[in-house]
Amino acid sequence: MKYFSTNHKSEKASFKDAVIKGLAPDRGLYFPESISPIPNGFLDNGKELTEICYQYIKQFVGDEIPPDVLRKITAETINFPLPIVPIEKEVYSLELWHGPTCAFKDVGARFLARCLSYFIQDQKETVTILVATSGDTGSAVANGFFNVPGINVVILYPKGKVSKIQEQQLTTIGGNISALEIDGTFDDCQDMVKSAFNDKELNAAMKLSSANSINVARFLPQAFYFIAAYEQLENKKKDLVFAVPSGNFGNLTAGMFAQKAGLPVSKFIAGTNVNDIVPKYLAKGVYEPKPSISTISNAMDIGDPSNFARIIELHNGNWESVKNTLVGYSYNDEQTRQSMKKVIESTGYLTEPHGTIAYMALKEYQKNHDCQGIILETAHPAKFHDVVEPEIGRKVEIPERLKEYLHREKDALLMSNKFESLKTYLLEESSKTA
Ligand SMILES: *Cc1c(COP(=O)(O)O)cnc(C)c1O
Repeated sequence: MKYFSTNHKSEKASFKDAVIKGLAPDRGLYFPESISPIPNGFLDNGKELTEICYQYIKQFVGDEIPPDVLRKITAETINFPLPIVPIEKEVYSLELWHGPTCAFKDVGARFLARCLSYFIQDQKETVTILVATSGDTGSAVANGFFNVPGINVVILYPKGKVSKIQEQQLTTIGGNISALEIDGTFDDCQDMVKSAFNDKELNAAMKLSSANSINVARFLPQAFYFIAAYEQLENKKKDLVFAVPSGNFGNLTAGMFAQKAGLPVSKFIAGTNVNDIVPKYLAKGVYEPKPSISTISNAMDIGDPSNFARIIELHNGNWESVKNTLVGYSYNDEQTRQSMKKVIESTGYLTEPHGTIAYMALKEYQKNHDCQGIILETAHPAKFHDVVEPEIGRKVEIPERLKEYLHREKDALLMSNKFESLKTYLLEESSKTA
């Protein structure tokens, strides 16, 4: 499979090059030349999930990873439960927090880590993975790459804008993982990473790669759980919609790819917090990025969603066509708090700030549409227990795999939000290992 850049200026890249480079040289996002249907008989036929996912993903990898290796990578990517849990009539929660770091980002990070490890196995130079995180990406990526030979991971996270548990998960891993606490916003972190990829001097001195959802090996496998959810549905005849709590829109784009490959989804519903760039685009037809605003659903505090370019590409730049596939609603923190309270009181189901936004968006949509809906519960409520507990009036039980981090000592380097600081740091680090 060849990948072109959404800016249409760079040369086409192989899957391997797209994975290693992350971002295209013209700063566009890599996009596959074609999306083919999942082969006949693989959907809705009681086939094993890993096999369906393999059949889906292999078109994007081509012969660049041998079938047996890709099957194994696929199996390891989803080696934890991805259940849909009924919450109320026609509403299910797809729980994506059963992986090692309790957020959906585990899926993409595990696939990427394994693909990248495969591609660099006989290369001598160390690869440095730069990852900007709004909270959950960093730990999922770090977990995927922990102690993988030949790889260093540098995480950039915005100071004071991630939850306590998230910060512990990011800053206490050690080994080949370093954390930079950036005095700025997530958008600043993302910009610093993008600038690093475009800096000639840095790229001459070291091999950089990205693990953000701009990387094709991260967002493509996220289609797996849309497939997993569909396979579990009892009634496959009724119209199905997915409500996706969205920030960078990697999750939602992956769902749209699965739909394009034949997964019967009648609509995607994006729920955002007050960072409502995409709902505004859907309403007005104009895309206006803004500086991000901090909210209690911090993993979605994105003012310039990176995967928007892919959504546009998928619809040939046609606003009407985007609107046919996607509906968007946005909610403020007060509504988010009330929703967590209301959902647990009326259904007994515990949501967290991101998933509950998807819930509100789904209910809004269902007011006028008869359909069954699946909300994506993108993280375990314990990751946000400080905002969840006051609303539900009790403690949230913290899973053992999260508790582990709480007693470790934070190790992060405080840094300004200027690219030059990052560059100096990276050059110094690379001269140490050279
Ligand atoms: C990253 C994240 C999101 C947003 O996902 P995108 O793919 O960036 O839209 C939503 N919820 C949680 C908990 C996250 O970690």
